[in-house]
Amino acid sequence: MSDDYYEILGVSRQATPEEIKKAYRRLAREMHPDVAGPDADDRFKDVSRAYDVLSNPDKRRQYDMGGRGNGNPMGGGAGFGFSDIFETFFNAAGGAPRGPAPRVRRGQDALVRIEIDLAEATFGTSREVQVDTAVVCGTCQGTCCRPGTQPRTCEVCGGRGSVQRVARSFLGQVMTTSPCTACQGFGTVISDPCSECSGEGRVRTRRSIPVQVPAGVESGTRIKLTGQGEVGPGGGPAGDLYVEIRERAHPSFTRRGDDLHCSVELPMTAAALGTVIQVQTLDGVRDVDVRPGTQPNEILTLRGLGVGHLHAGGRGDLHVHIDLVVPARLDAEQERLLRELAVLRGEDHPEARLTAAPAGVFARLRDKFAGRP
Ligand SMILES: [Zn+2]
Ligand SMILES: [Zn+2]
Repeated sequence: MSDDYYEILGVSRQATPEEIKKAYRRLAREMHPDVAGPDADDRFKDVSRAYDVLSNPDKRRQYDMGGRGNGNPMGGGAGFGFSDIFETFFNAAGGAPRGPAPRVRRGQDALVRIEIDLAEATFGTSREVQVDTAVVCGTCQGTCCRPGTQPRTCEVCGGRGSVQRVARSFLGQVMTTSPCTACQGFGTVISDPCSECSGEGRVRTRRSIPVQVPAGVESGTRIKLTGQGEVGPGGGPAGDLYVEIRERAHPSFTRRGDDLHCSVELPMTAAALGTVIQVQTLDGVRDVDVRPGTQPNEILTLRGLGVGHLHAGGRGDLHVHIDLVVPARLDAEQERLLRELAVLRGEDHPEARLTAAPAGVFARLRDKFAGRP
C-alpha cells in the first residue's frame, strides 16, 4: 500500500475537505474490520491515519510541505517551528526509522460453518469440526531454518531492516528510509531454510477440533475458539477460530427468539367438550389439557419447553396453536345428532351477526402467506 495519504484516500491533492470526508466515509464502510474481515484491519488503520492528517487544515498544510503531519508531539496541530520542520525533513517519507520487521507474526483468524438442527440449538451439543489450517512446523519448531542452522544478519542493511538514502531537494539534502530489499526488511537472511516448511515456520494441515455448542445459538451465532486459528508466519501465535452456526428449519416447530410454535389439529367436538391431547415436544410426548369451549386459533402455552436461553439459565416456551377441524362429511346418524344439537342450542336458523373484525385476523393472514405460523 502507498504511503501517500492522498493516494490512500483516493483523492486528488486539490481535494476539498468535503471530498476528503466523503472518501473517508466510503473507505471506512468498505474496510471496517467488522465488515471486511481481519485482513482489512491494517488498511483501515492507514486510512484512518491519512484522514486524521488530511481532515485537519494545519496538519494537511504540514503534510503538503513534506512533513508527516502527525505523530509529532511538538506539533500539536498548532504549527511547526523551524526545528520541527528540520526534523520532519530528516525523517521524510519513511517516518522515524523503524527496527527490522519481525519474522514472527500472529496468524489469521479462521471461520468454519456448521449446521445443527433445532434440538441441538435447544439443548446445546458438541461437535468435531474439520479445519484446514496452519500449525507450527515440527521440523524447525517455527524457526524457519534447517535444524542446526540460524538466520544470519543481513549484510546490506546491517540488521536494521531498512536502508537510508540521501537525496537532494530544494531544501538541501533529504534522508529517505526504505525497507531493505536484500532481507525484505527482516534484518536477517535465512540462507538454509527448513525444507519441511520452505522457511515459513508453519505447515498446512487438517485438524479436527471439538466444539461445545451452547443451548440457545441460532443461525449467525459465532462461537469463538481462542487460539485455534492459523499459526502465524515464523510459528507466530495462532489466530482465533470462529464457528458460525446455521440452524436447519424443523418440519413442525417454528422458532421465534427462544420460543417455539407448533399447530395441532383438534376435532370440533373435542374443543367443545374439552379433552387431554398428547403433544410431541422436543422433550418427548406431553399431556396437554384442552379446556371445554376451546376456540379456533387458541394458543396453549407449555412453559419452559422452548429453546434454552444462550449463556443464561431457563428456556423459552412452546406455544401450541389449536387448528380446529370441522367435520366435512357426516353420515346419516351423525347428521341427525348434530341437527338435534343445533335445535337444542337454538342454532338451527342462525343469524349472520356482524362482529368487529379482530385485529389479529389480518396479521394471521399475513403470517400465513409469509410462511409463519
Ligand atoms: Zn520448518
Ligand atoms: Zn537487509
